[in-house]
Amino acid sequence: MNPLQKEILKLKREKDALILAHYYQTMDIQEIADHVGDSFELARRAREAREGLLVLCGVRFMAESAKILSPEKTVLLPAPDAGCPMADMIEPHDVLRLRREYPDAAVVCYVNSSAAVKAASDICCTSASAVRIVRALPQRRIIFIPDQNLGAYVASQVPEKEIILFDGFCPTHHRVTESDVIAARKARPGAPVLVHPECRPEVLARADYIGSTSGILDRAERGDEPEYLIGTETGVVERLRARVPGKRFYIITPQLFCPNMKKTRLINVRDSLLYNEYEITLDDDEMDMARGSLEKMIEMGLHGG
Ligand code: SF4
Repeated sequence: MNPLQKEILKLKREKDALILAHYYQTMDIQEIADHVGDSFELARRAREAREGLLVLCGVRFMAESAKILSPEKTVLLPAPDAGCPMADMIEPHDVLRLRREYPDAAVVCYVNSSAAVKAASDICCTSASAVRIVRALPQRRIIFIPDQNLGAYVASQVPEKEIILFDGFCPTHHRVTESDVIAARKARPGAPVLVHPECRPEVLARADYIGSTSGILDRAERGDEPEYLIGTETGVVERLRARVPGKRFYIITPQLFCPNMKKTRLINVRDSLLYNEYEITLDDDEMDMARGSLEKMIEMGLHGG
């Protein structure tokens, strides 16, 4: 543990804070976190936390979800400019336009979205639960926002429903091409290809396993194969290498790097604890409505992997 990490742990104890980190954070951040997880796991941990001060090492929508599910707590985002380009691709007025166009449809919103967009939706989903949520809803027509790739994957798994897609995408996962998978397989023959459904359909078509970040970690940890090709953000490969030293993990392409997820540095976490930086504040009505969408997902018991 380096001196800055030690200082953070000392401050954390003094302030009785809880540090939550996403799997895509760098390993030095993951090492000082109380919990490491995907965005929904972190929001759930935030809600269950005894501590009143939460430091969320991730991007803005994750800190917002933590605040929405535990409004009485102080939620800090150490790197205030860590946003998510996919979440920024859609605004509430886009949701209203789609609702006017398809009045009989339910709006299903991927948790990788802003509080305002969650508030304008009927129900949230995670990448692990999207298929089951869409299948379980009574509506035959579904507006799926904002990720076109996850939406297309859901459509392929639930052919009995009509899925209206929005044209958002995660720039990091969308960068992976079919040729990248072909080249990676050639370099590591026999290694299974595990990919996130935020990748393009033609990439998913060449995968051995399609799943959420937690699903990919689980498949890679439990699998019998000695090596794996990973099709999600590089932080997951770092985590697997640290946790499963007996196996070999390779990223399909170094393009699988989310610059926003790497904006949080140890110094930001230290300053966050020292100066209470940067507190997430949301409009009360917006928070109530967004909470409704998240809680519907939780009530359906379909959030997990
Ligand atoms: S990996 Fe993609 S979805 Fe996740 S924060 Fe980065 S841009 Fe957003």
